[in-house]
Amino acid sequence: MERKSFFDTPIEFLKGVGPSKADVLKKELKIFTYGDLIQHYPFRYIDRTRFYRINEISPDLQYIQLRGQIVEKQILGDVRKKRLVATLKDDRGGHLELIWFQGIKFVEKNIHIGKEYIVFGKPNFFNLKPSLPHPELELVAEAKKEFQTALQPVYSSTEKLKLFFLDSKGLMRLVYTVLQQVAQYIEETLPPDIVNQYKLLSKKEAIIQIHFPTDPKLLQRAQVRLKFEELFFVQLRLLFNKQVKKRLHNGNMFSTVGDLFNSFYKNHLPFELTNAQKRVVKEIRQDTYSGLQMNRLLQGDVGSGKTVVALLIMLLAADNGFQSCMMAPTEILAIQHYNSLCSLLKPMGIDVGLLTGSTRKKQREHLHEALMSGELKLLVGTHALIEDKVQFQNLGMVIIDEQHRFGVEQRAKLWKKNTKPPHILVMTATPIPRTLAMTLYGDLDVSIIDELPAGRKPISTLHKFENHRLRLFGFLKEEIAKGRQVYIVYPLIEESEKMDYLDLMNGYEHIAKTFPVPEYRVSIVHGKMKAQEKDMEMERFKRGETHIMVATTVIEVGVNVPNATVMVIENAERFGLSQLHQLRGRVGRGAEQSYCILMTSHKLSSEAKIRLDTMVRTNNGFEISEVDLKLRGPGDIEGTQQSGVLDLKLADLSKDQQLLIEARKVVEQILENDPSLIQEKNLNLRLYFRNKGVNEITWEKIS
Ligand code: ADP
Ligand code: MG
Repeated sequence: MERKSFFDTPIEFLKGVGPSKADVLKKELKIFTYGDLIQHYPFRYIDRTRFYRINEISPDLQYIQLRGQIVEKQILGDVRKKRLVATLKDDRGGHLELIWFQGIKFVEKNIHIGKEYIVFGKPNFFNLKPSLPHPELELVAEAKKEFQTALQPVYSSTEKLKLFFLDSKGLMRLVYTVLQQVAQYIEETLPPDIVNQYKLLSKKEAIIQIHFPTDPKLLQRAQVRLKFEELFFVQLRLLFNKQVKKRLHNGNMFSTVGDLFNSFYKNHLPFELTNAQKRVVKEIRQDTYSGLQMNRLLQGDVGSGKTVVALLIMLLAADNGFQSCMMAPTEILAIQHYNSLCSLLKPMGIDVGLLTGSTRKKQREHLHEALMSGELKLLVGTHALIEDKVQFQNLGMVIIDEQHRFGVEQRAKLWKKNTKPPHILVMTATPIPRTLAMTLYGDLDVSIIDELPAGRKPISTLHKFENHRLRLFGFLKEEIAKGRQVYIVYPLIEESEKMDYLDLMNGYEHIAKTFPVPEYRVSIVHGKMKAQEKDMEMERFKRGETHIMVATTVIEVGVNVPNATVMVIENAERFGLSQLHQLRGRVGRGAEQSYCILMTSHKLSSEAKIRLDTMVRTNNGFEISEVDLKLRGPGDIEGTQQSGVLDLKLADLSKDQQLLIEARKVVEQILENDPSLIQEKNLNLRLYFRNKGVNEITWEKIS
């Protein structure tokens, strides 16, 4: 109990923290307690063991530390551009200018000619001559009294905190104080056998070393230990939940592969499944036959053929007397799925229902009845099918397409549509880096379609500038002459909606002029159009009645027009990587060579350049997602908000892959040997859940 009370001590009780400091600590850094302060880890360290000579300073050095005597100081410049220049002389006779542009008076008063200082800063070079702007200064005589640590921690602080003397150094003093008080109470949080087996630093030692490292090796071990712990507990939560779900819920048993599945597979499947598709169908078949409830994620790059897998699974459910529903993120997609299912199933005389926000009342009532009576086996829809009014006679399978747009609660609502929760298959077309998948979907089993249907030609991707536009239009005309169709996509980003809309309309007019009727026909689809108009335009394009589809990103996900071979993306520098990849996936769906042309201005940020180069270099969605994660970090990737990834303080999913894989493996082993965590050695894990306030009822049920 002791440990809890100490770490929960409000920060204002700490020596050196009065009410006003406590206030800014809370506001600026969310530090409320001793524990929070201890977890405000340094983001960098300064090597205090190394002193540079002035003649060693070179432009490639970052921060450096020097020792020397101040031999001169003077204020230079006129009133508007004043600066303070002090000269430091080291024991080899080197001279270095230290320069201040701000706080001149204060600094001038506080540095003393003839005294020895330790100086720290980032050198600047002008005409090959180094100087040190705004260095940190410390009297050698006083420095000795400070913390004896080889690597000095640097903490993130803010302008506000600095007003309260809580710059990095001020924070360091607080951490030092708090550790002196509570370090002795830091207890191990991982199971002791794991700490031994992996030769991890103890929690206490790791905390001390991460703040005040005695040498670089120990610092590194401290970082590993604490990162491991973070990843370990995220995985523990996920895998423990997964296991509880499995134990609490029996699944609906799909005991036979019946006529519907077999007859479709043998007589109506328009192509041979890829090996990856076959494997995934098998994995799902095993899940639904296991007596447990399935929660599976199906990852597959755009165009890898997830829809037909979904269809087969729904037929399997129907064979066993269960209903299925398939949920898409937009109306366009729902309709598309509906149409493709209808056309595939028509020869077999199987009905499919469609339920979206714009389904008419009468039709809706009719659907509700057919679902309640069990007459309708297959339903496709949007969010509309989550509504409580939509009730099934016996829902057995839920397929969620493009999962990342649905929240966890929505998934839960679908669960409740049957007394025994239905099996859930989540399909995502945005490949996710492995580490992120393990964390975001760590409580799901994962299937991967890692193979495209045979005969697909890789899409050729080009990056072009405005001066290429005439040639681009010429090229589009050639493709259209061959009977192909073209997408031209404009960004529409909400903040600048009006401008973007203007861009789109101007673009459209320009294109309409360049591609005049009657020879050419151009469609346009954007977010401001009514759903009905949009659908009509999409349909016209699908039927091949129009040659060019000018659109905003509404066509981003899932739209399938195999005859379209060119995707032109305007202002491509403004799109994120996964969006670009999604858009590109709209072409290359037929047998013809397809192209993706990224149009940009010459002004490109370095990040934008990396995005464009990546697109040109590879078609592999998984590879692209890795780059995306590196560029943006997990925080900006959709779906991470609810996942706990963002609570990670030290671990970084884009860099600590190995450690995450290791942590997950360790957790899996622990849960396999001790599913209820009742063994003595796993006491810490029980404590962890207790401290997190995990629902005791769940706990009792599983133990
Ligand atoms: P996604 O995984 O992006 O949802 P789709 O399911 O829309 O992909 O499939 C893309 C296209 O590939 C569709 O036209 C589909 O009919 C076709 N397709 C799917 N599987 C195969 C296969 N095994 N062989 C040939 N074509 C296939
Ligand atoms: Mg799809």
